Amino acid sequence: MAEQPLHPTPGKKVNLSKFDPDYKGDYDKGMAREEERELEDKLADLQERLYAEGKQSLLIVLQAMDAGGKDSTIKHVFDQVNPQGVRVTSFKVPTAEELAHDFLWRVHQKAPAKGYIGIFNRSHYEDVLVVRVNEYVPRPVWEKRYDQINAFERLLAESGTRILKFFLHISREEQKERFLERLNKPDKHWKFSRGDLPVREKWDDYMSAYEDALTRCNTDYAPWHIVPANRKWYRNLVITRTIVRTLEAMNPQFPPAEPDLDQIVIPD
Ligand code: ATP
Ligand code: MG
Repeated sequence: MAEQPLHPTPGKKVNLSKFDPDYKGDYDKGMAREEERELEDKLADLQERLYAEGKQSLLIVLQAMDAGGKDSTIKHVFDQVNPQGVRVTSFKVPTAEELAHDFLWRVHQKAPAKGYIGIFNRSHYEDVLVVRVNEYVPRPVWEKRYDQINAFERLLAESGTRILKFFLHISREEQKERFLERLNKPDKHWKFSRGDLPVREKWDDYMSAYEDALTRCNTDYAPWHIVPANRKWYRNLVITRTIVRTLEAMNPQFPPAEPDLDQIVIPD
């Protein structure tokens, strides 16, 4: 099986039909789960170092169509990590106050502080996805946003934040399966929203909008990853591995101990 790239080459136009959402490399479920468990231990250790060092931060952006697996990714990839060092932000329909500001205002506030991992469940990319497809703002306004996003992400990167962006790529058929599961299982009913159906009808428009975001905002300092996400276990493996490699490259260090710790006597 030809290897499918995870990170599209910056500057090259992304064509999503060339990315197979069923791709799983040479893995089967058992192998993937085993490797992921080992990686999760590393992730926990690296996160502790990042927190202890307190000098760098990591921002993880998750984007997907409905039922693409954003929530489940967060639950599975980070289940071994100390919750104190992680901040998850879910971006919903903007409030009146948020809409009264520029589109990055609410996002910038949630960028991770030094020592933290910030996870964006949806993000500023909604402002060139749902907003564009539904024409909530006129074209000249959203057209400018790609450059504005790149400038914003560069600011974060130059301020000590590593950025990883994941598009969880599922097929239209897989989304249907997942919606049906939500309808058929009582404990999943709460996950089903009628409002997801009109979005599904505009699937092709969303794919075009995603292709533009994945092409125009795919930089060295904030790279996109197109994650084959029809198989949850492959998705989790790929994302965990990418995060671990990135944290390893960031190489966070425990701060030096205070001097003369061996002289300290703890009073009774
Ligand atoms: P779930 O998987 O639980 O459904 P979700 O991320 O879809 O999670 P919802 O509360 O269902 O959460 O939906 C949030 C909605 O907010 C999405 O439809 C999304 O497109 C919309 N949204 C997010 N950001 C913006 C924005 N800037 N402008 C308009 N709509 C937005
Ligand atoms: Mg939803």
